Amino acid sequence: MSDDSNIFDSSPAPEQPVSEELLESLLQRFNALFPTEKDCLEELYRKADAEKILRCRYCSNRGVEKEYGARVGSCKRCKKRIWLTGGTFFNHIRAAKPWLLAIWLIEQRIIISSSRFHRLAGVAQSSAHNIFKKITTVSQSHMQENTVEVSSALFSLIFCKRSRETQARKHPLSEQEEMEKQSDSEILLETVSDCYTLEPQPETTTTTDMNFEGLEKEIYDQLSTEPIHVDTLSHKTGMPANKISVALTMLELAGVAIRLAGDRYIKRIAELGKTNNGSYPAVSDETANTVDSIVSFIRNRFHGISRKCLQNYLAVYWSAFSKIRWQHSFLEACWYFGPISPQQIFASITPLRVQILHSNKR
Ligand SMILES: [Zn+2]
Repeated sequence: MSDDSNIFDSSPAPEQPVSEELLESLLQRFNALFPTEKDCLEELYRKADAEKILRCRYCSNRGVEKEYGARVGSCKRCKKRIWLTGGTFFNHIRAAKPWLLAIWLIEQRIIISSSRFHRLAGVAQSSAHNIFKKITTVSQSHMQENTVEVSSALFSLIFCKRSRETQARKHPLSEQEEMEKQSDSEILLETVSDCYTLEPQPETTTTTDMNFEGLEKEIYDQLSTEPIHVDTLSHKTGMPANKISVALTMLELAGVAIRLAGDRYIKRIAELGKTNNGSYPAVSDETANTVDSIVSFIRNRFHGISRKCLQNYLAVYWSAFSKIRWQHSFLEACWYFGPISPQQIFASITPLRVQILHSNKR
């Protein structure tokens, strides 16, 4: 299962869903390679053995005796019985097959939702979700190359599922607002750092067909990737909030502004980097296109998501479309990652600034 073993090379474009036919043929291929549960376990171990990850937890000896596809082995030195997946990424797994299948699909660059995986692998919805969370945590840890940092607010359009972080009787989008409130001072710092991390502004300002005038133009120029409150706009322009709101509604209708929870606004993603007058940081055309692709990808493959889990989906996108991924195979990356506790999954919340794939080119 090396990273180059992309047998099918048929990962659909981000905007397209994975067809049932493709999934069916992949499942047949997988079942032919690993027909039984023992074959699946053996495939998991094969990677661990080769990389010397399996070792005795009592004496740290690397030699372990076991039968084909067994869950338990014995240490060659101290002779103690060892639960082979214990204390590893595969700690407490009930069956190896769904895990191997999920990892194998990622290696083939095939990305499906956990509800489709639940039907494909014949596992409970909750197990499918758990597998998704854990393997995306591993992909995320490998997102060091070929990434760029952007504001999580750029993905506000797809935050429509509630999570434990969503306040009672509030829209899922309120999570974004809450997080921004909590770290207002941090945002200031991050905005400053934007000036260093973002690509330089293009020399020539793109001529746009946006012929806004007066207040609308003034507000349009103030909008960026960072959410801005109506009151802030009112303060900056010296105009009363009600006039600002009217102008913002016009910009919304023109499709260039997006209203977020709590009377905050951002510039519409498709406009980012294109209509920038150079007075505030914005993302490059290339990054804006990637954000657009990611939004379509998440909508098509997963419908909507919660803000809390955004980084898992960004990692999945990176796994599907980044040319550079993990060093050898994703299975090996999982072994090296080690155990992930339910508490870790529970506590993981997408930060305000997120890493996304830098270039969409494969
Ligand atoms: Zn031992």
